[in-house]
Amino acid sequence: IRVKVEEVYVRAAEGGTGFAKCAVNYGGAFYPTQLAREQGFDQVLWTDAKDHQYIDESGAMNVMFVLNGKLVTPKLTTAILDGVTRDSILTLAKDLGMPTEERRISLDDLIEGFKKGTLTEAFGAGTAAVVSQIATINIHGKDYNLPSIDAGSFQQRVKQKLSNLRTGV
Ligand SMILES: *Cc1c(COP(=O)(O)O)cnc(C)c1O
Repeated sequence: IRVKVEEVYVRAAEGGTGFAKCAVNYGGAFYPTQLAREQGFDQVLWTDAKDHQYIDESGAMNVMFVLNGKLVTPKLTTAILDGVTRDSILTLAKDLGMPTEERRISLDDLIEGFKKGTLTEAFGAGTAAVVSQIATINIHGKDYNLPSIDAGSFQQRVKQKLSNLRTGV
């Protein structure tokens, strides 16, 4: 999917109810998502409500990156949904020998990762799609493309592992 970093609108602010799956969180997402769709994107990549500098989530999914060979995902705040898929993937990463890091991820971290080639994967994580591959991230109006991924990628391997657990294979 193609995602656009949202630097104007806000899904959830710290101190609010963004961490929970409750209906009130979703109304505010419709208009910015519609605008992003009209601009040729599939989803919005939400940033923090205060400075629009740090990544929160993508649409109604948690977001994860492979950066410098580690699985990196935003550290939970009151503005980020505490998703079970996120939690499962962090757990399974250990079985797959993948180091994990939960921390604040800035737009500059992503830009640097794209420039140095150290940002190798990006994906959304949620119950519906399990893992949703991000191919392009638009930051400050510029498209940055991720490398293509294959069956050996972390996201494909962890998706398979999680699907096997869910179906009892
Ligand atoms: C549902 C949802 C997620 C993913 O949560 P899961 O428990 O993995 O399904 C992430 N962010 C938002 C905003 C959601 O609504």
